[in-house]
Amino acid sequence: MIANPKHLAAAQRRLTTASRCYARTERGSAGRRLAADRLAKLHARVGYLRQDALHKLTTDLARSHGTIVIEDLNVAGMVRNHSLARAISDASFGEFRRQLAYKAVKFGSTLVVADRWMPSSKTCSNCGTVKTKLSLGERTFRCEHCDLILDRDLNAARNLVQLVTTSVAGSGPETLNGGGATQKTQHAGRQAMKPQPRTLTGSDVDRQPAMAAT
Ligand SMILES: [Zn+2]
Repeated sequence: MIANPKHLAAAQRRLTTASRCYARTERGSAGRRLAADRLAKLHARVGYLRQDALHKLTTDLARSHGTIVIEDLNVAGMVRNHSLARAISDASFGEFRRQLAYKAVKFGSTLVVADRWMPSSKTCSNCGTVKTKLSLGERTFRCEHCDLILDRDLNAARNLVQLVTTSVAGSGPETLNGGGATQKTQHAGRQAMKPQPRTLTGSDVDRQPAMAAT
């Protein structure tokens, strides 16, 4: 489990103060230039911290694991949910994937991208039973069939691991190579649902940044 460092949230109070300061200055004044400069520096700092933490994490993952499985998250759809937008943008999922893709090539690791429609959170990683409903608020996965009780994200991550460990030769999920080219193959029995036009529902946001490395 890797916590979201939440650099933006940590800097939010100083950012709010700085932008209020800026708003109080007069147009064209020296004070305004100073306040704008201060605000820009704070924003830049959040960016540097975020980028630095992300690079350390992706390098570490690509260097120390032969296979990495990530989920193809509907980031655009998730960001449309206003209560999640800020935290998701702060975690920079898109950049995370971009870095992992080229670093996997660099360090000789395989990056596997699980289909966006795979019900990774709703599936029991022990018996394979798929729940019909799992709200975002339910942080613990409880299987009614085999009584498994496990952290929601850990359960999802274990399902992602199974995607590669149970894969039969010639049938596997989408593998991403460094050029960004995708080689798409269908995993037997894992084809969940047909893609449909998106509207934001609970199941959209139930895809937390689950990730597994073997
Ligand atoms: Zn179960």
